[in-house]
Amino acid sequence: MSQSFVIIGDGIAGSSAAETLREEAPDADITVITDEGEALYNRILIKEFAKGKLPEAPISIHQEGWYEERDIDLELNTLVTNIDTEAHELETHDDEVIGYDKLLVATGGTPSQLPVDNSDADGINHFWTFQDARAIKQNVESCEHGVIVGAGLLGIDLAAICGAQDVEAHYLMRGDCWWRYALSEQGAEIMHQAMRERGVTPVFQSGVDHFETDDDGHVTAAVDPDGERYEAEWAGVAIGLDFNTEVLQDTPIELKDDGSVITDEYMQTSVDDVYAAGDLTWFYDSILGEHGQNGSWGSAKEQGSIAGEVMANGPEATEPFRWVSSYSITHFDFPFLSFGHPTIGDDEVEQKFSDTEWRRLALKDGKIVGGVLIGDLAPQSAYKKLMREERVVGDQKDVLMEESVDLDKLAPAQEQ
Ligand SMILES: Cc1cc2nc3c(=O)[nH]c(=O)nc-3n(C[C@H](O)[C@H](O)[C@H](O)COP(=O)(O)OP(=O)(O)OC[C@H]3O[C@@H](n4cnc5c(N)ncnc54)[C@H](O)[C@@H]3O)c2cc1C
Repeated sequence: MSQSFVIIGDGIAGSSAAETLREEAPDADITVITDEGEALYNRILIKEFAKGKLPEAPISIHQEGWYEERDIDLELNTLVTNIDTEAHELETHDDEVIGYDKLLVATGGTPSQLPVDNSDADGINHFWTFQDARAIKQNVESCEHGVIVGAGLLGIDLAAICGAQDVEAHYLMRGDCWWRYALSEQGAEIMHQAMRERGVTPVFQSGVDHFETDDDGHVTAAVDPDGERYEAEWAGVAIGLDFNTEVLQDTPIELKDDGSVITDEYMQTSVDDVYAAGDLTWFYDSILGEHGQNGSWGSAKEQGSIAGEVMANGPEATEPFRWVSSYSITHFDFPFLSFGHPTIGDDEVEQKFSDTEWRRLALKDGKIVGGVLIGDLAPQSAYKKLMREERVVGDQKDVLMEESVDLDKLAPAQEQ
């Protein structure tokens, strides 16, 4: 009898797993279940659509018929509401029971709500799905003043959308700079200046105490904890993700406190025949030598492929997940890239080269674990190589911070 593989989530992790499974197990039954109403699309590009720079068509990834051609059963608009790992079954919102031999959970996350009054008012958007992007585009196009909350990689997308749509916006941040866990004030100032040039004003030591609305329940302003009022007919909120793992809460699958799913480097969970991949994993990072989290497209895709291989062939026949992730931003005249885990570590080094060129590396036990590059991305391959090789280089920061990084100038690895 053929094996049956069920995948929850048709994001890049779930879809890559389905593709790999079909290659590795030509006769298996493969079902992909998603609560979204459309098949996999390029989540990275939906911000360009919201900016008004890209039509809808290039954002879809698979041609119509992709799933049918591969004999993959895609169930759209279907929410998985219960999983019974003992019985190897799951249940959907319309009480359908689906059995599986092996299950992949690739359900990603949902943007966190701001826990303040009126945070669900009309004209306030979070950003995760193509549907969100359509709503954001429509709302931003028809407004003059905006507010953005959330000083991270998704918040800056919202700021860039305002900039592209000529909306005057205030970007409210809790600390003294944008993405303060990965950038110093010096590096972040390059980003602040780029925002200002597009009509987005960063506001530091701020945040939202509550939103004001008109009689129709539409947002009119954000008020910060000091009582400062920022007029806005639109607000974008990107303060983090809640992992979509409620459905796992009553199962024996081991979760971290924040709800992410604990896996090993083969994307195996603590329960036999259940795997997890993508944004929601707290995976064993074999480069770091400890567990870590990563919310990026490339990482989710690779984890999905590995999960697919392991589900089909077992871990013995599969290379473990060993990946240096990258996340780039192209909103400004200069490029920006973060890689690895730039917000962790016990040491760091940074250097400014010009008004639009800056770099920072995060190190742990003398090894590079992540970094941020602004302006010149050329050194990324050298840094990523050192990270993959787990080379101890913390005592040679001067070489690492040379404008053009020459790995031959580093002391040979065996002498360290
Ligand atoms: C606006 C935006 C811009 C981004 N830009 C970049 C970028 O420039 N570079 C980069 O590397 N990364 C970027 N990312 C992050 C990247 O898109 C994610 O890391 C990646 O898409 C995660 O994929 P995933 O498959 O793990 O999860 P998701 O893509 O979130 O897919 C999970 C799917 O599961 C579905 N689901 C959840 N619960 C259930 C359930 N119970 N039943 C059925 N279905 C369910 C969800 O609706 C969703 O379709 C961006 C993300 C966003 C939102």
